[in-house]
Amino acid sequence: MSEERTADVIVVGAGPAGSAAALVAARAGRDVVLVERGPFPGSKNMYGGVVYGRVLDDLVPNWTEQMPVQRWVTRRSTMVIDGDRALTIDYRSGAWGRPPYNGCTTYRPDFDAWLADRAVDAGARLVTSTTATGLVTEGEQIVGVDTDRPNGRLRAPVVIACDGVNSFLAKEAGLYHHDDPAHFTLGAKETIALPPATIEERFGVTGTDGVDIEILGCTEGIPGGGFVYTNHGSVAIGVVLGLNGLASAKIRPEELIARLKQHPAIAPLVAGGELQEYSAHLIPEGGYRTMPELSTSGMLVAGDAACMTLAAGLWLEGVNFAIGSGALAGEVAVGAHARKDFSAASFARYRAMLEGSFVLADHKRFQGGPEFVLSDRVQRRYPGLLCDLADGVFTVTNPRPKPGLRRVLSRAAKTNGVTLRDLARDGVRGLRVFG
Ligand SMILES: Cc1cc2nc3c(=O)[nH]c(=O)nc-3n(C[C@H](O)[C@H](O)[C@H](O)COP(=O)(O)OP(=O)(O)OC[C@H]3O[C@@H](n4cnc5c(N)ncnc54)[C@H](O)[C@@H]3O)c2cc1C
Repeated sequence: MSEERTADVIVVGAGPAGSAAALVAARAGRDVVLVERGPFPGSKNMYGGVVYGRVLDDLVPNWTEQMPVQRWVTRRSTMVIDGDRALTIDYRSGAWGRPPYNGCTTYRPDFDAWLADRAVDAGARLVTSTTATGLVTEGEQIVGVDTDRPNGRLRAPVVIACDGVNSFLAKEAGLYHHDDPAHFTLGAKETIALPPATIEERFGVTGTDGVDIEILGCTEGIPGGGFVYTNHGSVAIGVVLGLNGLASAKIRPEELIARLKQHPAIAPLVAGGELQEYSAHLIPEGGYRTMPELSTSGMLVAGDAACMTLAAGLWLEGVNFAIGSGALAGEVAVGAHARKDFSAASFARYRAMLEGSFVLADHKRFQGGPEFVLSDRVQRRYPGLLCDLADGVFTVTNPRPKPGLRRVLSRAAKTNGVTLRDLARDGVRGLRVFG
């Protein structure tokens, strides 16, 4: 790379956010450089496993025919674990296995490389094995990035920071005000190889159908949860753990995964599988309340770099928010070039556009979700309470008569140290948070 190379737009990070931004800006005819530190897009990236791809409908028409899909998710379960017990709500939809689909499992190295290729097809220049090491500024204006290549300074009137969780570019620009570890979780995952036919038999699916199981009560009191996802020839199993809880606990993530794999509800699903890979990554779990400022003179921030993962118990979605925000950042960059205005005021429309889209609408609506789901009662008491409730309802007490539901509930509440008032309060709070 020669010194002081220029472009119209520099995108840092070829994850889903960066590739979407680069695709939109390049498609509009802008000269885009997409800088990725890994040897190829996705090489450094991990996640649980499900991409909700409808956000691609406009961006990549016919994406369902091109994307490297492992399985289309047609079963979604929420499992609550307590000791050796498990209570599961299981939803299955045939419609999710047909276009337009709902979500699919896909490997990140495959998916990220595929999406980056779409940006390259549109004309973006992808530069791999290159790390952006800092911002180039002129006064208050950001005008480029330095990279770790010799003479690797890149200049452009727009820099889009898509460098993932803990974005050091956004921090360097002074946009971050919340980097308390309480707002981050660590996700750790094992990928376990199993024959596709075994996966289909064990998870009760056929063909290209797949399963997503979210689990509460498997983290030994550390705020968080677990997951199991099916790929074509492997199963992903992992835990998500609050950093503060993890730091004070005496257990490591891999031990929690080992225990989860031994649970009677999970063990038969992964038995005999061969460990393919272990990986871990941070998640910006704080959501809307902890987002940085989203733009400044010459720079926009998208995806995890802007804390746009929605991790609120019922959902663990980040790729779709990354793509949605990246695409809008690309659009704003194009508009700024048309107006030749790269000021903070010009870029302020980015936030308004995000507010008008699902990206900030969802984050705003469910902003209380992370705090509620990670609260002490939900994490430590309700798994036991729910399993006791199921036990009380389904255990046949003959020759004694069945207890009524009210008695089962008050006994389950008492055993787990929850008052009926707490229950009512949390019910109302849950409705407020998710309503
Ligand atoms: C355990 C776990 C489970 C998850 N499960 C799901 C799920 O099932 N579904 C879902 O939708 N989301 C899930 N997520 C969230 C999802 O992974 C993220 O929200 C998503 O990857 C964000 O995309 P992004 O492009 O913003 O950032 P990233 O995917 O992190 O991409 C950032 C890119 O920037 C590059 N980069 C970073 N710094 C630099 C630099 N200085 N110079 C050059 N390149 C740089 C990185 O190499 C990387 O390619 C999960 C996350 C974790 C950790």
